[in-house]
Amino acid sequence: MPIRVLSEEVASKIAAGEVVERPASVVKELVENSIDARAGEIKVEVRQGGRRLMRVIDDGIGIPADEVELAFARHSTSKIASVDDLASIRTLGFRGEALASIAAVSQLTIATRTAEEDVGTLLRLEGGKVAQRQKKGCPQGTVVTVENLFYNVPARLKFLRTEATERKHIDGLVYCYGMAYPHLRFSLLNDGRLTFQSLGTGELYDVLIKVYGLEVAQQMLEVRSSETDDLKPGTSNLELVDTYGYISPPSLHRANRDYLTFFVNGRWVQDRMLSYAVSEAYHTLLPTGRYPIVVLRLDLDPSQVDINVHPTKSEIRFLDSNAVFATVQKAVRRTLVDQAPVPGMMGRPLQWSATEIERRRKLVEVGTQTQLALEAQRTAGIEAPSAFEFPEPAKLPPLRVLGQVAQTYIIAEGPEGLYLIDQHAAHERVLYERLVAERAKRAVTSQALLEPLTIELPSVAGEESLKLLNQLGFDIEPFGGETVLVRAVPVMLAKGDIAQAIVEIVDGLIEGGTVEAREEQALISLICHSAVRAGQTLSSEEMRDLVRQLEQTAMPRTCPHGRPTMIHLSAEQLAREFGRR
Ligand code: ADP
Ligand code: MG
Repeated sequence: MPIRVLSEEVASKIAAGEVVERPASVVKELVENSIDARAGEIKVEVRQGGRRLMRVIDDGIGIPADEVELAFARHSTSKIASVDDLASIRTLGFRGEALASIAAVSQLTIATRTAEEDVGTLLRLEGGKVAQRQKKGCPQGTVVTVENLFYNVPARLKFLRTEATERKHIDGLVYCYGMAYPHLRFSLLNDGRLTFQSLGTGELYDVLIKVYGLEVAQQMLEVRSSETDDLKPGTSNLELVDTYGYISPPSLHRANRDYLTFFVNGRWVQDRMLSYAVSEAYHTLLPTGRYPIVVLRLDLDPSQVDINVHPTKSEIRFLDSNAVFATVQKAVRRTLVDQAPVPGMMGRPLQWSATEIERRRKLVEVGTQTQLALEAQRTAGIEAPSAFEFPEPAKLPPLRVLGQVAQTYIIAEGPEGLYLIDQHAAHERVLYERLVAERAKRAVTSQALLEPLTIELPSVAGEESLKLLNQLGFDIEPFGGETVLVRAVPVMLAKGDIAQAIVEIVDGLIEGGTVEAREEQALISLICHSAVRAGQTLSSEEMRDLVRQLEQTAMPRTCPHGRPTMIHLSAEQLAREFGRR
């Protein structure tokens, strides 16, 4: 075929495809426009997962009658005038493509009025062409109705998923914008049923309750970079990154990454680096294959982010991504260290840290929706969080050892009641932190064996495995064939089953992954073999020692595999169980 310029119709459909992937993309663009139009209330209506109809109603500034058609021309926008404006952009839109794209692949009706006009404008477009225009009385603001999406692009229509799936995407999107803009009132109607509503209290926490439910929201920990910042002055752009949001404690996790939500300058973004920064912060706190619930907003100078990476604007680039990574990772980690509560007994409310309690108390005082929620809960006979009476610092309080149960758990008493400590998990945590510290100083203490030990290792183990073991405090060398000679082992393992431990550590190493992941694997495996086992009788002194050491760790509440090291039963709970209250 000779080269030809595509007809306007084909070109516009191709361009539309970049912006409008599925019904949720339409809702995203329309909601972003409403936010840019300084709306206070945004109503979203959806029929049949958006295939049949999507409508977004706002009370924003509206579009003047003589500009309505222009809004549907490609690359027409009121938000930027020159390339330079891109560096200081504060609106969500700027490409001037969304309305044109949506209109090209649907039947679209807009009704809009500005504050200065007495009467509004109604415009109807079919496949991007104006089909009807008239004056129309309507409230100030804009209503955009999109019907029969992709009616003129059968290829696209075929790629739509089930109604339920498309609906889920739209739901997720409205939740996200609800959380990003807690001072706006959002509502979502699905086939005539109100399925989500935010109240515009300005508190992210209130929206969190609506999105994830009260039970989850109550457990979430607040992240504030002002509290978590310990930046040296003059450290590049770091200071400009403001981090705010909520993260789940280590006891609350999900099976996939869908619960990681990030906003950068009010824009909902999908960004691997940010997800990675969060996983790093939860390192060793969550069981493998589990993910936290995170809602974080970052605010930084617009010139530090490139938002013009993709037509959907959900991908961004940071100018100094290392700095952003470090800030996010630190803010999250700090929150976890300072605030992560001890897991409560089954079905019992969790215990919060002092700062957390103070925050919750303030929220209640402010008289927000939270208070209503708590009251509703109280009248429903559900326990109000007992943490109001029982501050729980993140560090362990001094504990007095009382005894051992089932040769597995240490019973201890503290100022706030009873603690059951898993001796193996607790010892793993102690050893893990010790080993990490020693390795950082390149000072893992090893102990020479009285008689060197020979072990057979699978030949695939290779020299790299030996090198890794030697960094962990072993002294191992090849001894011909598949045999190795062990001369020394890390002190912590000296009393364990050395041969068994080495074989298992090496097995773990063969499984692959990055060098760091393999190192970590080896380290955890070594610790697991060195720690006291369940079923081992401990003397009072040994138990006291272990508890003392656990008190001194930075993360006393979980083992390196992410399981809890202890269960707390507060004096309050005991009193309740015995019917004293
Ligand atoms: P962009 O948002 O990138 O500017 P759009 O195609 O989404 O491009 O919208 C084009 C223009 O139409 C916007 O710049 C804005 O002036 C106007 N507009 C769109 N939606 C609304 C709305 N809900 N309220 C007021 N003005 C709107
Ligand atoms: Mg827009």
